[in-house]
Amino acid sequence: MPSQEHWATARGYVDGGPVTDPRTMIAVLDPAAPSVRVGEGAESTPDDVDRSAAAAARAFLGWATLTPAERARGMTAGADAIAAEADRLADLLVREVGKPVHEARGDINGGIHLLRTFADLAGDLGGMRDLTGHPGTGQADGVWLQHVPVGPAVVISPWNTPVYLCLNAVAPALVAGCAVVVKPPEEAPLALTRALHLLAAALPAGVLNVVPGRGATVGERLVAHPEIRAVSLTGGIATGRSVLKAAAGTVKKTHLELGGNDPAILLEDVDLGVDTLRELVAGCFAVSGQVCFNIKRIYVHHSRLREFLDRFTSLVDQLVLGPGHLPGVHLGPLTTEAGFRNAQRLLDRAREAGHHVHQGGRWAGGVEPAEGRFIRPGVVTGMDPGDELVVEEQFAPLIPVLPFTDESEAIAEANRTEYGLCSSVWSADPGRALALARRIQAGNTFINAHRVGASVPLVPFGGVKQSGLGRNHLHYAVAAYSEEHAVIRYS
Ligand code: NAD
Repeated sequence: MPSQEHWATARGYVDGGPVTDPRTMIAVLDPAAPSVRVGEGAESTPDDVDRSAAAAARAFLGWATLTPAERARGMTAGADAIAAEADRLADLLVREVGKPVHEARGDINGGIHLLRTFADLAGDLGGMRDLTGHPGTGQADGVWLQHVPVGPAVVISPWNTPVYLCLNAVAPALVAGCAVVVKPPEEAPLALTRALHLLAAALPAGVLNVVPGRGATVGERLVAHPEIRAVSLTGGIATGRSVLKAAAGTVKKTHLELGGNDPAILLEDVDLGVDTLRELVAGCFAVSGQVCFNIKRIYVHHSRLREFLDRFTSLVDQLVLGPGHLPGVHLGPLTTEAGFRNAQRLLDRAREAGHHVHQGGRWAGGVEPAEGRFIRPGVVTGMDPGDELVVEEQFAPLIPVLPFTDESEAIAEANRTEYGLCSSVWSADPGRALALARRIQAGNTFINAHRVGASVPLVPFGGVKQSGLGRNHLHYAVAAYSEEHAVIRYS
């Protein structure tokens, strides 16, 4: 067992306090050295789930009647408490997710920023809008609209960016007036659960509850629970389908942020300077390819393919691979055993099919670790458009590169998928890029960029087709936890 300093336990938090009774524990392993346990997370019981839903339903009655500004005060106090422990939380993330320190800090600081941003939004919420006398209000002599919170909400989040992605749903739900029950990811529950305990302690009892455990047990029971009125899932498409079915029994409002298979289209006039190439490398390989909107396919105009591959692979060769706590590391290991095995399988299949696989990267300190779920960053060429690595989400640092001859072909290939999260067009001609961007089926299309820093808070974020339902960011996210209540008076 590692030193106490590096060991953590993720326990539930229900109705204002931690769940201290013994529970079956799920081991949390270090992806860079899976023989090492870095902590454990509780498997919450059905009774924990029921108590958390009942606590949220009770707390909702009071929380919903506070003004948004009053709710914002608790959220800000929670953000301060998390900020005071940011270094320790980032250290936990490095150990459980495997990501480099700078990415772990980005996850924690991004989560704190979300709490503060949604607390600031409180000033725009609440109150009634008077529509009396507006065209379209018929014979009514008084018409008012107010946003009302939908009720107790469940937030289920993934392991790749655990703190940010969970608070991305929790913060708008809280400011909207919902009480919340969170089911953290079983693979990486440590930093998130600690952060949620700190936030919950800053709020009235029952407003925020945490029930760690597995999706198929704790998650499903929560989603189906009759006292829960809204569900937010960030996860894979298969999980999204299960959650939709489980939520259907009680017709819950459901917000789904699901997987992506983002195309990047490089036109023949693309600038292949080092800034572009760095942006593309970051877009493909951030969090070792385990981001929902990483670039997952690159389409290059055939006239630039050779030049692109030479320049791109020479940058990929410079990426540093190793355990996330080592200085200078760009790529940590894959977080889960299943993801690691899937990446190995995709590599084997590509080689068996005779595709060209260029694997780059250097080991941190020049030494390959004795164990760990490491996959060297790979660029695969010679594939058919319908190959699995092209049409399915790989969630690994393996990027297929395919040539195209004209724009219509590029668009047809980009859209030939059930995914529709993000996408990008790369060109020196802004007008041409914009015209092409409009033809891509996606929630967001970037021009000459494609990574987390390119996402703009003011615009809605989410997927089309099977990549999701609903939108994140500011008022769009608050809408996932609210409904319009209309009051209409006739004399
Ligand atoms: P996952 O779907 O396996 O798990 C996500 C969460 O759902 C976990 O907490 C899990 O325990 C829970 N869960 C699993 N089965 C469940 C069920 N039947 N009922 C209720 N809950 C259940 O996803 P993952 O492997 O943790 O994350 C990777 C996937 O998430 C990728 O597809 C990625 O693209 C996607 N993702 C999407 C976004 C986005 O914003 N669109 C962001 C991050 C990740």
